[in-house]
Parts: sequence; C-alpha cells; structure tokens
Amino acid sequence: MAKVRPYHTVEPELAPERNVYHDQDNCPYGLRIEPEHLRLGEAGRPKCLECERLDRR
Ligand SMILES: [Zn+2]
Repeated sequence: MAKVRPYHTVEPELAPERNVYHDQDNCPYGLRIEPEHLRLGEAGRPKCLECERLDRR
C-alpha cells in the first residue's frame, strides 16, 4: 500500500463513500473509480474513511 496524491471521482459514489477524496492507492473504493472519472485533488471534500483507516496502519 502507498499513500498517493489526493484523488477523487467526478461520478457519484455509493454511500458511505460518496463525495470524499482518497489518498491510498489500495483503497477498495478508490480502486472502483473508472479512469475517465478520476481527477486529482481533494475537491474540498472530506477524506475517505477507508483511506483514513489504511493510513493509520
Ligand atoms: Zn478511499
């Protein structure tokens, strides 16, 4: 696993991971983002809870 630059999707995500940004390259929610919907940056969103959890390991 690795921490990466913040990224998010422009497509609506399923709850509870909607409208968040990710910063782990192995986040299961982040991995579901289609390449064409992937954007860099936090987009003013809160951090993904799963990424937060992965970051603390
Ligand atoms: Zn995430």
